[in-house]
Amino acid sequence: MPGSLKTEAVVLRSIRYGEADRVLHLYTPYRGRVGAIAKGVRKARSRFGGRLEPFFRLDLVLYEGRGELLTVTAAQTLSAHPRLREGRAALDAAARACDAVARLFETGDPNPSVFHLLCHELALLDADPARAGRGNQLAFRLKLLLAAGLAPHLDACASCGDRDHLAGFSGAAGGVTCSACEASAFALDEEAHRFLVDALGASLTQAPTASERVLRQAERAIGETLEHHAHVRLRRVA
Ligand SMILES: [Zn+2]
Repeated sequence: MPGSLKTEAVVLRSIRYGEADRVLHLYTPYRGRVGAIAKGVRKARSRFGGRLEPFFRLDLVLYEGRGELLTVTAAQTLSAHPRLREGRAALDAAARACDAVARLFETGDPNPSVFHLLCHELALLDADPARAGRGNQLAFRLKLLLAAGLAPHLDACASCGDRDHLAGFSGAAGGVTCSACEASAFALDEEAHRFLVDALGASLTQAPTASERVLRQAERAIGETLEHHAHVRLRRVA
């Protein structure tokens, strides 16, 4: 049924289209990922101004016709996140966060917790761009895995359930593994195991920091989980 849809959204991508239009990839709380076209947005006197750019959090009115793309009919800025655009690190972290959401949550299935997690991450990078480190980005990815129902098992061996001698991680098994179940596992240090537990349990603002070696192992664990269970390979965190 054609009609209007009022929704909050974060702009994940904004692509030039034709003479003056833009195609937007949006993430919304109750419609998941949505594609929309904004007409005339690149004209000097567009009523949308510059607010249909990546990382903007918006209140939108979209017209839903029969086509695949909805049409933006009104847009109010809720947050422009200007500070995160000032530095390379925060900008990169925001781009990676949007890319991860776009690739892991491609459908129109509602997932409000993903929307709120992305808003939280963008607000955090805007409030304190110095947080844009690998610890923050890996914590964000772990929480996305949780929202996707793919959080790795961290309290017992993902293969046999043993709670002792946890020494490895296997993306195929879906979590930490004991020393007897190490066929497809790589060695995971105790500190890296602790990092995964803490990053998953704490709020994003409390994301733990860790040494280079620990972060590398944690990134590998997250990356292998994504590859095995979501068939998604994300860019390395910077
Ligand atoms: Zn085991």
